[in-house]
Amino acid sequence: MNIRDENVLRELNLYPLWVRRDTSAADAPEVSAPAGEVPLAAEVAIKPAPRQSESGSTSTLNWPELKQTVHDCTACKLRAGCTQTVFGVGDEKAEWLFVGEGPGADEDVQGEPFVGQAGKLLDNMLAAIKLKRGKNVYIANIVKCRPPNNRTPEPDEIANCMPYLQQQIALIKPKLIVALGKTAATSLLGRDATLGSLRGTLHDYHGTPLIVTYHPAYLLRSPAEKAKAWQDLCFAVQRMSE
Ligand code: URA
Repeated sequence: MNIRDENVLRELNLYPLWVRRDTSAADAPEVSAPAGEVPLAAEVAIKPAPRQSESGSTSTLNWPELKQTVHDCTACKLRAGCTQTVFGVGDEKAEWLFVGEGPGADEDVQGEPFVGQAGKLLDNMLAAIKLKRGKNVYIANIVKCRPPNNRTPEPDEIANCMPYLQQQIALIKPKLIVALGKTAATSLLGRDATLGSLRGTLHDYHGTPLIVTYHPAYLLRSPAEKAKAWQDLCFAVQRMSE
């Protein structure tokens, strides 16, 4: 193991115990949340947004048209309170698509998803499975505008913004979607459920496999859960290698 790998393991709070197991979906780890776990703000249930169409995409916009449409969007109240829209970043032909909740303060200023502390952890999570932002990886959010005070996006805001993500997915055609946190997972799957119950299962998003893991911001607040996130990443890597 080289120094860089060791640093990644340390960052994820797993060094020196981090050993990748060759797990299958069937013997994936116990996924229910520990008894007595109190959901944090980002984990609070939201009403899922309605599906837009059978295919998951509502439009035929190409990349420049879609970027312009998002840039110009004033469909919900979020736009009035944010600095700019945050479209998404990465390889537009990526096999891996990571989906978060919505821009935070740093993302609102820089116009790129996951550039703050949670973003640093996401970059380390990517590095841990030999991925890199922008190389075969695309990163997007459920909503493109920062919710005030980083609150969870509301159902109408998610519903307004979902068609943009759906069209991003239709254009990227990823091999796997990794939903980061409950808002991303329930919005994409169109049903409410606990994060714990959604982990460890291969879901389907209109024909694209989807797995669920913890949001990096949650992992920063609850570092003990990083081991479970590592299990989820191993599950994702295994799925991709099949
Ligand atoms: N949290 C998210 O869900 N997305 C970001 O882009 C940043 C933080």
